[in-house]
Amino acid sequence: MAQQTKGLVIVGGGPAGLSALRAYREAGAGGPVCMVSEDSVLPYERPPLSKEFLRGEVAAGAIAMQDAEFWRSADASVRLLTRAVALDAAARVVTLSTGERLGFDACVLATGAAPARLPVPGGGHPAVLRLRSLVQAHALRQAADRADTAVVVGSGFIGCEAAASLAARGLQVTLVTQERLPQQERLGAAAGRRIAGWLRDSDVELVVGARVERIVAGHRVELADGPAVTGDLVLAAAGVTPRAGLADTAGLDVRAGRVVVDAHMRTSAPGVLAAGDVALAHNATAGRALVVEHWGEALAMGVVAGGTAAGSDEAWAEVPGFWSDIGGRVLKYVAWGDGFDDARLVGHDAGAFTVWYGRRGVTVGALTHEADDDYARGRELVEAAAPLPDP
Ligand SMILES: Cc1cc2nc3c(=O)[nH]c(=O)nc-3n(C[C@H](O)[C@H](O)[C@H](O)COP(=O)(O)OP(=O)(O)OC[C@H]3O[C@@H](n4cnc5c(N)ncnc54)[C@H](O)[C@@H]3O)c2cc1C
Repeated sequence: MAQQTKGLVIVGGGPAGLSALRAYREAGAGGPVCMVSEDSVLPYERPPLSKEFLRGEVAAGAIAMQDAEFWRSADASVRLLTRAVALDAAARVVTLSTGERLGFDACVLATGAAPARLPVPGGGHPAVLRLRSLVQAHALRQAADRADTAVVVGSGFIGCEAAASLAARGLQVTLVTQERLPQQERLGAAAGRRIAGWLRDSDVELVVGARVERIVAGHRVELADGPAVTGDLVLAAAGVTPRAGLADTAGLDVRAGRVVVDAHMRTSAPGVLAAGDVALAHNATAGRALVVEHWGEALAMGVVAGGTAAGSDEAWAEVPGFWSDIGGRVLKYVAWGDGFDDARLVGHDAGAFTVWYGRRGVTVGALTHEADDDYARGRELVEAAAPLPDP
């Protein structure tokens, strides 16, 4: 027999799940709410894990998303260290790892993503660290306490941020990447050159255009074409894999590994919503589905999912974006994020810059460093599908 007398079941204790809970209650919905989370602690901020937390500047207690008073008043039951193992969308029941079965009127899948394992021999060695959860962040910090040298594999945001943070702790850090320039694939060569300069300024050694062939004993990173790099600590920052298994097994529409949702976060199954990194959501302003893996979007989609579950009619329509901190330099990015054919860097005073991204002459993104006016203007231009500014 299913327990919980219906109401809302949220699978996932990250920002999307938490913001769905908040929005559901703020919309005035009563009835039972249960949040099921594999995490060992209540929702916390992930962005500091590669920045202030890794540098040892903040403690775990300081990154909780809500205080005890919120949880007292939220009127929700939270099952930590509990996994949702099955979803029966037709019967509207979620089965937990404890064997409990929770019936629901609405369910929000906010299962996020898992850090990808490096797809090479030795990539799964327990000494090859990955960074997503607080538990993994503690393990990385403890490893850094004992290490003199570190190898970071991957030059996405987490790889770049973590490399700079480890270097700031005094480790000798090598960042190994397949890209010719850090983040070139996502942000283009001009931005990549700036980021490479920041990393070098932070004393991070860059090994670019390098394909990792294998990792030996969790410490020796062997490259296809070049000398091996060895670190007391190896961090794999090779992107993420959305955790769409629950939805997939339940027969929901899943595309490119993500749960397909409309702008109201509704999946193909009535009563089942999805939000955050796991979702492939339709953005009402863009007029198409977007892949986003950003904190702010997880919160925004959670708001929509919680509202939809409560019966309101909101839609996800914001231009996505995120901030990144690489060795104390902050980048602000606002973009649809699904490609550009033109990238124009405009330099400002004292190292500040803006990169304008266009596709077929239309502004599709802006990346700024110390140029907040352009960041705000970029959002407006992208939203309005305005012509690419002529620098
Ligand atoms: C180190 C780091 C730094 C980052 N920095 C930034 C940044 O500066 N800016 C930015 O925009 N983004 C940043 N991000 C990305 C951002 O954190 C993610 O986009 C965001 O966390 C996605 O939120 P989510 O709620 O969709 O998923 P998650 O935060 O991944 O949460 C998913 C939750 O679901 C739970 N779960 C999964 N499956 C199950 C299951 N079957 N049963 C029960 N529970 C389950 C997990 O335990 C977890 O609680 C960073 C990420 C990391 C790891």
